[in-house]
Amino acid sequence: MIEMKNVMKKYPNGVIAINGLDIKIKQGEFVYVVGPSGAGKSTFIKMMYREEKPTQGTIMINGINLAKLKMSKVPMLRRNIGVVFQDFKLLPTLTVYENVAFALEVIEENPKNINKKVMEILDLVGLKHKAKMLPTELSGGEQQRVSIARSIINTPKLVIADEPTGNLDPETSWDIMNLLEEINNRGTTIIMATHNKEIVNTIKHRVIAIESGRIVRDEQRGEYGYEG
Ligand code: ADP
Ligand code: ADP
Repeated sequence: MIEMKNVMKKYPNGVIAINGLDIKIKQGEFVYVVGPSGAGKSTFIKMMYREEKPTQGTIMINGINLAKLKMSKVPMLRRNIGVVFQDFKLLPTLTVYENVAFALEVIEENPKNINKKVMEILDLVGLKHKAKMLPTELSGGEQQRVSIARSIINTPKLVIADEPTGNLDPETSWDIMNLLEEINNRGTTIIMATHNKEIVNTIKHRVIAIESGRIVRDEQRGEYGYEG
């Protein structure tokens, strides 16, 4: 589903964040992206939803080359990729329900179906009863659940998560991981950048380690491999 070939990313200030990266990821995989701070993990991830454009190389996602994708086609790409951030990025003036409904690309769907879909997803993440609350009225873990609900509302084949547990306490982090596992078990590919050694070493998945913009390790059911 994802294939990167000879990808290089040089920022305008001259920093080469990704340097000659090749990778293939199949539909349904769960992939951890690990490595020291400044290694290029965020850049790697941002290129997959076209937040950053590669300077060189090709990034194919389901047959579309992101390096050549026109600006006008970016919204369509984003609709098919769910993104989860460390700091949740919820809209503070909208309720939980509205934050999720807002992300739903409404293509002549009748309001009843929209309501049904949003409530189903909120039920899945365990927050149906908090639909009317504002993000500020929720705990960090609950806010991350809303952000995960938002990321899957358009039933994407791929969910990208950049340090999704980075702002959460250990217990809440495991809850969020269980939710991501459940989404993965339904066939959705998950790519997750993380510094959480405990999680990587306990819930085993493919591990890609990036250092100085290159993949230095790629193992099925791998280990975190760094000090926690
Ligand atoms: P990581 O996520 O592994 O910490 P990043 O991808 O954020 O790594 O950063 C890789 C390198 O690129 C770092 O040297 C960082 O300072 C640099 N970098 C990241 N974003 C930008 C940017 N927008 N402009 C310039 N340099 C950047
Ligand atoms: P994280 O560690 O959570 O990935 P960073 O601190 O690396 O976040 O980056 C925060 C933001 O600042 C990102 O949008 C990144 O692109 C940008 N950034 C990071 N390093 C630089 C840099 N050297 N110059 C300009 N922007 C940067």
